[in-house]
Amino acid sequence: MTSNRPISKVLIANRGEIAIRVIRACRQLGIATVSVHSSVDRDSLHVSMADESICIGPAQASESYLNVQAILAAGVLTHADAIHPGYGFLSENADFAEQVVASGFVFVGPSSDVIRLMGDKVSAINAMKLAGVPTVPGSQGLLNDDDQSNLVQAQQIGYPVIIKATAGGGGKGMRIVHQSEQLIAAIALTKSEANAAFGNGGVYLEKYLENPRHIEVQVMTDSQGNTLCLGERDCSMQRSQQKVIEETPAPDIKAEQRHHLSQQCQAACKAIGYEGAGTFEFLYQDGQFFFMEMNTRIQVEHTITEMVTGLDIVAYQIMIAAGYPLATAQVSTHGHAIECRINAEDPNSFVPSPGTISEFRAPGGLGVRWDSHLYQGYTVPPYYDAMIGKLITWGEDREMAIARMQAALAELQITGIKTNIPLLQQLLHDDGFLQGEQSIHYLEHWLT
Ligand code: ADP
Repeated sequence: MTSNRPISKVLIANRGEIAIRVIRACRQLGIATVSVHSSVDRDSLHVSMADESICIGPAQASESYLNVQAILAAGVLTHADAIHPGYGFLSENADFAEQVVASGFVFVGPSSDVIRLMGDKVSAINAMKLAGVPTVPGSQGLLNDDDQSNLVQAQQIGYPVIIKATAGGGGKGMRIVHQSEQLIAAIALTKSEANAAFGNGGVYLEKYLENPRHIEVQVMTDSQGNTLCLGERDCSMQRSQQKVIEETPAPDIKAEQRHHLSQQCQAACKAIGYEGAGTFEFLYQDGQFFFMEMNTRIQVEHTITEMVTGLDIVAYQIMIAAGYPLATAQVSTHGHAIECRINAEDPNSFVPSPGTISEFRAPGGLGVRWDSHLYQGYTVPPYYDAMIGKLITWGEDREMAIARMQAALAELQITGIKTNIPLLQQLLHDDGFLQGEQSIHYLEHWLT
């Protein structure tokens, strides 16, 4: 089999654990790696683990990890063939993907057109409706300035409704409305906030689901349009819209329903011309799935899907980018996997806790995976995300995966900074968590 877009060197436009994750996949594929780093990340493991490394700017992400020109220049200087964006930073920036390709590199991800289509919530929803994916009942696209028509649309959807900015992201640009008296003022407020935050004041309405679970579907599609569905993940354990614990398979989803959803997602990939690894995020309530958004990049929690399928999703991303067809083999899943996100933060106040790691001991043993850039003596900088590692366990069933997670959390030692490990330990013994099938509000309630 030959590659039509040969890749022998990949530049990773990211930092920390995901940069290391990409370096590992490249190394196993026999591909050389270039890491980029800000001036404060000079001692980061993603720098020493790569074959080459280049400083792209000062600590502030806007001047380094978001600095498109510096990243492209690093690619030119090191003769990289491809650029992997990881997650966060520029990973869902369509203009970046476009410039990467215009500069002669392969972008490890879908086309900039597809990123743009799925990056705008209204165009994404319209594309999903066309492809036959179930969406949340909502307005006919963007709202206009006709108050009467907006009131009628909200009435038809039924209160509570949620006003959402089409350009919104990261949980920003949303407002829940419970009564018609509040609607018009709330629309005006959300529009002006969206304008200020995203430079786009377009908003639309959706039914507000009061007690949903967050269930998402992992897909991979090659450049020839062959699609694989790698099953779903339940990411309902969230705090402030941030996932804290993820697991797969999602408890109590019937095989028939899973199969149907997977068919719908694969059809959608074909309909939009998707290429690479991607995730369809759904809200699940009263036995029904409602499309929320698509992430056109690798996600933090891809690891648990790898544990139950045995497939290296990051390696596949690179192979797909290089033009190799996906093996036609069926995906088979085995057992249950859980991920805990380890954050450098106070477990009670959630205030970030950067600083130097005085002692570090990684957990191990059968079914335990630790993906992280931590080492003893490493200083967690205050400039970036608080996540410093991902602890993943696998077991024959959910009980075994949980038992291994409880043991692994007890084994994991990080001192010198505060972490959320004590909180995770409590949660892993909580009756509600052990029971499973909790909604996205469970953790917030549990914390208060
Ligand atoms: P973002 O792109 O900002 O992450 P999303 O559309 O993914 O925005 O929504 C973020 C979160 O807001 C979801 O994870 C969910 O908790 C909540 N949410 C969004 N839409 C709805 C809805 N229609 N009903 C209930 N909750 C919603």
